[in-house]
Amino acid sequence: MGLPASMVVSFEEARRIVDEQAARLRPQGKELVGLLESAGRVLAEPIHADRDFPPFRRAARDGYAVRAADLATLPTTLPIVGEIRAGAPAESAALTVQPGQAISIMTGAPTPEGADAIVMVEHTTAHDGRVEIRKSVRAGENIVATGSEAQRGERLLSPGIVLDHTGISVAASTGRVHLLVYARPKVAVLATGDEIVDIDVRPGPHQIRNSNSYSLGAQIQAAGGEPILLPIAPDEPHRLRELLEEGLEADLLLIAGGVSMGKYDLVETILAELSAQFLFTGAKIQPGKPIVFGRWGAEESGAGKSAADTPVRQDSPKYFFGLPGNPVSTMVTVDLFVRPVLGALCGAAPRPLIFLRARLKSEIQTRTGLKRFLPAVLSGGFEQAEVELARWQGSGDIAATARANCYIVIPPDREKVAAGEWVPILPR
Ligand code: AMP
Ligand code: MG
Repeated sequence: MGLPASMVVSFEEARRIVDEQAARLRPQGKELVGLLESAGRVLAEPIHADRDFPPFRRAARDGYAVRAADLATLPTTLPIVGEIRAGAPAESAALTVQPGQAISIMTGAPTPEGADAIVMVEHTTAHDGRVEIRKSVRAGENIVATGSEAQRGERLLSPGIVLDHTGISVAASTGRVHLLVYARPKVAVLATGDEIVDIDVRPGPHQIRNSNSYSLGAQIQAAGGEPILLPIAPDEPHRLRELLEEGLEADLLLIAGGVSMGKYDLVETILAELSAQFLFTGAKIQPGKPIVFGRWGAEESGAGKSAADTPVRQDSPKYFFGLPGNPVSTMVTVDLFVRPVLGALCGAAPRPLIFLRARLKSEIQTRTGLKRFLPAVLSGGFEQAEVELARWQGSGDIAATARANCYIVIPPDREKVAAGEWVPILPR
């Protein structure tokens, strides 16, 4: 059968293809987890306000509840007719501010009837049961109106959000002890290469330890998936085919290595033998050019039809990525292309790649033709973001990448980027 037809596309086109396929994917199930266990998971149910937020007219400052109209001339001195603390029982919360009166109030307490503003304690001096006020207030100032943040029954969170501390805070504030989240997709990881050995084996002088399965495993976990590390596949068709078939049973298969142009890069050939459909077989990027993306188990494409037009069968296809084996290429291509697919399998709403900008510290010279994602160090105090390339020896240099914290993005038409330029970066 041999190699599939070459389909090397631009970065943007590759990403468009990945996003388009990701849009068809759904998570495989749901489970109920404890609130704190839900961190990093994807919410599978809407969260509604079980009461008004805030549930009463909340004081936003420590100070004095007053009628704003009483502060027309300043300074003015008002009698303090009571005190309301946060959590105060109903009797004190039932106090009323009459014209010409003030009530001492603390942040988080219910504002008493009659008052329409709170003067911050910083603008007052209290003695002998009276308070001198030196600053006027607008009606409503420092009071958060009942239901102004959300009304009872309103949807606060939608399914598809990745739960972090903010979402967990919302769920906690509605009294949720457990949350329904989507099941983690199972992602098979297949490292390939005759030179690759397990990390608990002493490598011979010609051998390399399998770091890719572990970087991939960690990236899969961070993205909400459950990695399944398969045994290392040799560059030998029979065993490689067996392991590829095993990997295709998972929700997603990530293969590392064996997708370049070498004589023993057999991954694409075997996938083609398994009737896989290739959506692209390379992207004009560096590192990561040999990346392959495809699917398996969907209906065969009809004659003359491109794979992308093929309708998806009811029992939807399995997707695979053939990632270049160079460790940095493997890592970058996961960030660039695998994450949308993994996110969709986790049930997460699609998220665009977000590039930031930082000022380049020293000039970069490169060759044109490929969009580059080069490991770089982002630093600088406060709002002075500066970035420079990590000193690296190419896409095998994992130690340099570990010292980096982002990628500088260089468009394919630039051969020089001057120091001081604002360059796009992809945070890691
Ligand atoms: P390949 O994509 O198979 O041509 O591999 C490219 C380079 O990455 C070679 O130098 C491999 O030795 C190295 N490599 C491939 N797979 C791994 C792996 N699992 N862990 C570490 N290095 C790898
Ligand atoms: Mg190889």
